[in-house]
Amino acid sequence: MQFHIITLFPDVCKAYTDASVLGRAQKTEKGKGAKVRGKKLSICYYNPRDYTTDKHKKVDDRPYGGGPGMVMRAEPVVKAWDKAVGRKSKAKQAGKVKTLIMSPRGVTFTQELAKEYAQQYEHLVLISGRYEGIDARVKEITDAEEVSVGDYVLTGGELPALTIVDATARHIEGVLGTHDSLEDDRATEGVTYTRPEVLVHKKAKYSVPDVLVGGNHAEIEKWRQGK
Ligand code: SAH
Repeated sequence: MQFHIITLFPDVCKAYTDASVLGRAQKTEKGKGAKVRGKKLSICYYNPRDYTTDKHKKVDDRPYGGGPGMVMRAEPVVKAWDKAVGRKSKAKQAGKVKTLIMSPRGVTFTQELAKEYAQQYEHLVLISGRYEGIDARVKEITDAEEVSVGDYVLTGGELPALTIVDATARHIEGVLGTHDSLEDDRATEGVTYTRPEVLVHKKAKYSVPDVLVGGNHAEIEKWRQGK
């Protein structure tokens, strides 16, 4: 699967997606013997500023009709989108390209949507807004859906885009390694412990529940169900 992130701050996002699980999933890795683990996904960045044509590389402008703040200009964003998936007409026809615009007024992103994106699409384009939002014609031209990560307003769409990439990538086969929890249910298994068995903090002792160190798996499962 290919993720395409359109953002004025690619470096900030890349620092996150190059680390840990997402970083590993973008590389081919040599396993034991001659085994090679292929790339599970790719993440490309497009900065609208690189698609401006004026001397000042202007990406924002005043809103028509007045009002506070500035609006992200459509042209550089659409050009960045064209670069990402403009030529993917086969994939587009097959319904394998999905474009999302980060917006606090969009549909709320959920685990269900993450699964759906991973299963249905080959290309996911995520457009991060800044300022007071993006010229509405971008949505029209790219046939995008507006998605929100929650009922609050952030200063930019970078964290929402990263949230969606991260949660979607977990559903791509082979992305989670053996060290990472595979089952989604694990998310609800909130209570976990690791060593030491007794933790001392400011002279108080905090112990791991006996059942977890007892080695009785049936009992452990029962205890977890009750949590
Ligand atoms: N007044 C604007 C707020 C823009 S916030 C409005 O009502 O849309 C600037 C950018 O941050 C937005 O364009 C969007 O891309 C992103 N953003 C802010 N909060 C968000 C949220 N909860 N979910 C998704 N994107 C968000």
